[in-house]
Amino acid sequence: MPMSGPTNGVVCKRCKQPIKLDHTDRLAEEFSLACPHCGHRTFYRDKEIKPLGGEK
Ligand SMILES: [Zn+2]
Repeated sequence: MPMSGPTNGVVCKRCKQPIKLDHTDRLAEEFSLACPHCGHRTFYRDKEIKPLGGEK
């Protein structure tokens, strides 16, 4: 089981901050997600999931 690697997530459509996702393999094609940074909730698609870099 892999212990390292990029964290997957999406980028908030409002504040552009990265939102980490823990179980990307279990997500539906489209899912609702609330941003922990600005609180904005909207829908994202699985195609929008990408590796989040650890550096800015
Ligand atoms: Zn946000």
